[in-house]
Amino acid sequence: MIQEVFKNQFGYTPELSFQAPGRVNLIGEHTDYNQGFVLPMAIEQTTKVSISKNNDQIFRIFSKNTDELVQASAPLAEIDLSTWAKYPLAVIQLLEIGDQGLDIAISSEVPIGAGLSSSAALECSVASAVNELLGLGKTNKELAFLCQKAENTVIGAPTGNMDQLASLFAEKDKAVFIDCQTNDLQLVELGFDQAGLELMVIDTRTSHDLADGDYGNRRNECFSAAQHLGVSSLRQMSIKDLDGIDSLLSEIEFKRVRHVVYENARVLEAVQAINERDFQTLGRLLLLSHKSMRDDFEISTPELDEAVEVAMNSSALGARMTGGGFGGSAIALVKTENKQSVTEAIYKAFEAKGFKTPDIFNVIASAGAHQLQEQA
Ligand code: ADP
Ligand code: MG
Repeated sequence: MIQEVFKNQFGYTPELSFQAPGRVNLIGEHTDYNQGFVLPMAIEQTTKVSISKNNDQIFRIFSKNTDELVQASAPLAEIDLSTWAKYPLAVIQLLEIGDQGLDIAISSEVPIGAGLSSSAALECSVASAVNELLGLGKTNKELAFLCQKAENTVIGAPTGNMDQLASLFAEKDKAVFIDCQTNDLQLVELGFDQAGLELMVIDTRTSHDLADGDYGNRRNECFSAAQHLGVSSLRQMSIKDLDGIDSLLSEIEFKRVRHVVYENARVLEAVQAINERDFQTLGRLLLLSHKSMRDDFEISTPELDEAVEVAMNSSALGARMTGGGFGGSAIALVKTENKQSVTEAIYKAFEAKGFKTPDIFNVIASAGAHQLQEQA
């Protein structure tokens, strides 16, 4: 219990507690920063935060995951980027709370660095908790953009706003359809359970670091392609616009554009397929998305490709890598009765290839950030 973690660390009962979930993205990858469409859902695994004000003009932040207490004086001057506490500190800095000290305890079930956005879960749980504790009155949209800004400008990971919007706005059994041009959100009832389906995550346990350059390179390739095409973003491009533009772009840029344009179309088709309970079509779209990320956007890895291929060969309706790429996790949509055989096939294939043993588990579409009741 997070309240207990807080009490053990600080010796008194916290004023309030919040939780915010990690997410998987069903479809729509690298489309958010291109003003396109995405379809994430929150997962049951959350980051929990307990918090209180202190009168010591100091931020004391403890993570049970790292078993580390980090301190910084308030108001924040420079943030030490070598510690995990840069995430909560970046959020606190942007919330501009001056010299109000805080005691914060954090504990997360979201696998860290697995592409399930433990970073957004951490940012959003802290932002929501501080907002409530100090009565800052910020809306969830304001908090989402503030957390994205923290990740972009302070942490230096040039990500879009999907993760934070998903973590703050998700609801149980629903995916969050986001138009990243207008930031309009629509909840889409999934109904996997009623259809006898499960969504599995295959965490390949291979690292990805969104601040390490590859992610930013893709983003820059998209932005430069948009510039060469004379459009404000790749969202302005449709499938038929792809005809004849290859002369305006480098071969690489053309492939990146083709991924983004088709991926946006696939998100729209996926929403329609879910609404029609046509899960075969949804599965087909997931696999097409994976192939596009593998061949056109070039962000997959041998482990992710293997997870997808083996899942497909052992009866999954669809599978794809999810998240920013270069490691992390894949998802597979499977019939509940086949879950065991798909899981075993993937373990076996990974062993045969000499890959790290993956972590395989199912995820359930869950609620977004909210306050925890006392001793919840
Ligand atoms: P992802 O968001 O896919 O999990 P990121 O690289 O974006 O991966 O974020 C992971 C980083 O977030 C970790 O390296 C760590 O610094 C920080 N982090 C996330 N959750 C926690 C936590 N509960 N305690 C400490 N650090 C955390
Ligand atoms: Mg992250």
